[in-house]
Amino acid sequence: MKYDYLVVGAGLYGAVFAYEAKKKGKTCLVIDKRDHIAGNIYCENVSGINVHKYGAHIFHTSDKKIWEYVNQFAEFNNYINSPVARYKNELYNLPFNMNTFSKMWNIATPQEAKDIIASQIADLNITEPKNLEEQALSLVGKDVYEKLIKGYTEKQWGRDCKDLPSFIIKRLPLRFIYDNNYFNDRYQGIPIGGYTKIVEKMLDGIEVRLNTNYLDNREEFDAMADKIVYTGMIDQFYDYKLGVLEYRSVRFETEELPMENYQGNAVVNYTEREVPYTRIIEHKHFEFGKQPTTIISREYSSEWKKGDEPYYPVNNDKNNALYQQYKELADKEHKVIFGGRLGGYKYYDMDKVIAAALEMCEKEL
Ligand code: FAD
Repeated sequence: MKYDYLVVGAGLYGAVFAYEAKKKGKTCLVIDKRDHIAGNIYCENVSGINVHKYGAHIFHTSDKKIWEYVNQFAEFNNYINSPVARYKNELYNLPFNMNTFSKMWNIATPQEAKDIIASQIADLNITEPKNLEEQALSLVGKDVYEKLIKGYTEKQWGRDCKDLPSFIIKRLPLRFIYDNNYFNDRYQGIPIGGYTKIVEKMLDGIEVRLNTNYLDNREEFDAMADKIVYTGMIDQFYDYKLGVLEYRSVRFETEELPMENYQGNAVVNYTEREVPYTRIIEHKHFEFGKQPTTIISREYSSEWKKGDEPYYPVNNDKNNALYQQYKELADKEHKVIFGGRLGGYKYYDMDKVIAAALEMCEKEL
């Protein structure tokens, strides 16, 4: 065998594994079918602006160990995610907090906001929510639901809220303070210079082959390494023999505009049904850019078909049961370890994917 490990996928999970394996004196070959490293956290530099090619990524965690770990590879800026919601021509701060409520009802105090929400919930008389609409209404009342949740959620899922299961919205955090910080985590920021550099540093001194699909030559690759760390889709690994796991996909329409500042914020959600995209990202604002032009991406949520880029796993009962069947097959493999968001059919934030990779390294290396 030429290598101790073949790592399929140069995303965050694969890169953390390869970095830790190298530290322990193991040899790795990392392959990726794309023409770049970093998987979905890849940033492409266009006109001096780091464009988050596979969707906006904000690093946030409450885990001090993970924060220190990732800070070995980059310095982070002090970006705080504070999205704005646009409903028709009304603009609201997110997440739902006193700024949102004060704009919506022209009120000032937490008690006034609580009273309005409580009276709207009481009017509805919902005891057991039967669908997402009833669930959301019973948590936040009519105004917040209709202006800020309904249209956005329907675009995201491609379905009416009445036809979506209630479990999608288990709780909706309402904040009765004036605070637009989207995350509650202790640590937050964007790596200065972009995410790709983090992965570049992790893979420094490790052999990487791009434009290389494991599934095109699996016998040849299997013969090259003692073990395989596989971060691609688990159902595809098994040639979908038990069925296809479903995802939601996202289509990005990106353009450079000849102006310095288009929307004044990195993230603006369009919460009305009539606008076809869910949000517009203006990339330069993640890094407080002052470039003369700007780059924006409109995000359209779409149904995923085999062959599309998989983004969000649809973790309903049917897909979870199918994943369990694939996992049973995976658990019997001696040579292959499955990991990452596609190998585990799970939405992982970056901090969680690093934690999962490090946990696996503890066991494996
Ligand atoms: P990936 O990055 O997908 O890497 C897997 C790699 O494997 C890919 O490069 C792929 O090309 C390669 N591959 C697959 N199959 C094969 C094959 N057969 N042969 C060769 N190579 C293969 N997290 C946050 O913390 N904050 C955020 O703000 C945030 N925003 C997000 C926004 C969106 C739209 C999405 C979808 C996710 C977001 N995330 C965010 C999550 C973050 O993207 C993931 O945690 C992270 O990218 C997962 O890394 P990974 O290595 O598991 O997967």
